[in-house]
Amino acid sequence: MAQVPSIRLNSGVEIPQFGFGVFQIDPGDVGPALGAAFEAGYRHVDTAQMYRNETEVGQAIAASGLRRDEVFVTTKLDNDRHGHDEAVAALGESLERLGLDHLDLFLIHWPRPSEDRYVETWKGFEKLASDGRTRAIGVSNFQIPHLERLAAETGTVPAVNQIELHPRLPQEELRAYHREHGIATEAWSPIGQGGDLLSDERLVSLGQKYGKTPAQLVLRWHVELGNIVFPKSVTPSRIRENIEVFDFELAPADMATISELDTGERMGPDPDSFG
Ligand code: NAD
Repeated sequence: MAQVPSIRLNSGVEIPQFGFGVFQIDPGDVGPALGAAFEAGYRHVDTAQMYRNETEVGQAIAASGLRRDEVFVTTKLDNDRHGHDEAVAALGESLERLGLDHLDLFLIHWPRPSEDRYVETWKGFEKLASDGRTRAIGVSNFQIPHLERLAAETGTVPAVNQIELHPRLPQEELRAYHREHGIATEAWSPIGQGGDLLSDERLVSLGQKYGKTPAQLVLRWHVELGNIVFPKSVTPSRIRENIEVFDFELAPADMATISELDTGERMGPDPDSFG
């Protein structure tokens, strides 16, 4: 079973650096997929209210026989639940669906700057953290100006910012900002949604050198950059393959080769306009 290192968040909470994402997993497939993931050593699950599978995630955790403190659970506030009181109520509903009495990490899923309520929402998150309903709070898809507003108008620095990040979009500037302000970087779509990134010739030939697949090389690149990742798969062999990245190291020149795949192109929506 893979041994995954932890990262200490700015609130002191430890998060496993490698987890399992359940976006676009049909509710009926969540149990078998998470069962395979727990067996392979995953102890961190990334879901969201928007994914509509929190109930099945909670059932899979209960069925695993793992203690509550052995599994790190993240969920995210739905876009139509912004606002202080709405955020507080929405976390209660998530806990009920998950069958948990507290969460490990709660994120604002998208900033929705056109609505301009994320500061008020964040104040609700601060209350949830001080009441112990979640051990840590963070954001997702925040750009530097959104993070600056939180810093200027509230008292808590987000523990993480979960952003689209893969070799084609390495997010150097945002990662540097995170480092400077003690915010951990979580990478979503870490293997580029399994698309043509993984058939890039440079990754295929590096894979031959290390005896690893392109997906494993890209995941190892994230780990060495210090990113927190949670690739998604419903295929047991891939679920095992993806976490087998703690038994080798990439040479600095090969890290650089992977970083050179940068095209600056997003696969997902632009956080400044989405929602
Ligand atoms: P991903 O980069 O994890 O790619 C998943 C896809 O890659 C799978 O559907 C499968 O088709 C393929 N795949 C998986 N393992 C493979 C392997 N070993 N070899 C070849 N192909 C493989 O993309 P994702 O699911 O978009 O992102 C991962 C997680 O990030 C999500 O499940 C979710 O938890 C999170 N996420 C968050 C946001 C956000 O806005 N915060 C947005 C998207 C995703």
